[in-house]
Amino acid sequence: MRNLVASLPVCALALMSVTPAIASYCVNNPDALGVSRVLEIDTSDGPRFGTLQYKKTLDLQPKEVVLTFDDGPHPINTQRVLEALKKECVKATFFTVGTMVQSYPETLQSMADEGHTIGTHSWSHPNIGRMSTARATNQIERGFRTINAAVDQQIAPFFRFPGLNDSNVMKAYATKRGYAIFSTDVSSDDWRGIGATTIIQRTMSRLNQKQSGIILFHDTKFATAAAVPAFLRALKKGGYKIVHIVPVNNYGSLQSAAAENGGAELATIAKLEKPGKSDGGAGDAPIKR
Ligand SMILES: [Zn+2]
Repeated sequence: MRNLVASLPVCALALMSVTPAIASYCVNNPDALGVSRVLEIDTSDGPRFGTLQYKKTLDLQPKEVVLTFDDGPHPINTQRVLEALKKECVKATFFTVGTMVQSYPETLQSMADEGHTIGTHSWSHPNIGRMSTARATNQIERGFRTINAAVDQQIAPFFRFPGLNDSNVMKAYATKRGYAIFSTDVSSDDWRGIGATTIIQRTMSRLNQKQSGIILFHDTKFATAAAVPAFLRALKKGGYKIVHIVPVNNYGSLQSAAAENGGAELATIAKLEKPGKSDGGAGDAPIKR
């Protein structure tokens, strides 16, 4: 056996370390879009990415894109998106909502099992930019805590503000906590109620202008789920490459580090987190993007 392993070519050994189901699927689909590289994100200084709102974006080469999906998990549409990504051997980042995870934890687990990156998008998707500091902090922290607890592996300290509605106070808070904030470079407009064909045309047109960047979709949308298979084919045809983003340090290790530092920061957070009248629900902003 030792001799057999020693004689295997390097590429075969590399395949052995890949999850068998995914490896066999990719081997059987040589035309798959695939992942061209993995980009590790150091969140320790609370970076912000996405030229729609911020000065910087991810360090991407021309023709490199990062796929992101917001608002899920959704039991039907997210599942369809996951199937489409799997067929093309592509990895994405999902910015998930606490209340959705509470309703559909098995779909969240599917995302994790298939190797996607899981970030958060608040507890219940309110307009955080217009909330008191205490309620906004609670939305961010409760989201991270509950989503991390709902899946059997550590999530990423990646956050996207609901509706992209940030505030200076909460941006500073996220930076202090070591969370990376993600806006976007290319919007798909899929939250506007447009059909699958328009989603693909609009997104490809914007991407062709920018040539690279973070793309924002919503895995809760029926039209988006319908668009993703053909969109991935269009990326392949256009010569685009998929970059999979992962954190250098996951959410859990950030928490451990904070606890080791005497817990002072966590005590401050607990104080800020003292719940207001509501954590969300009836008074929340509708989910838009
Ligand atoms: Zn959203």
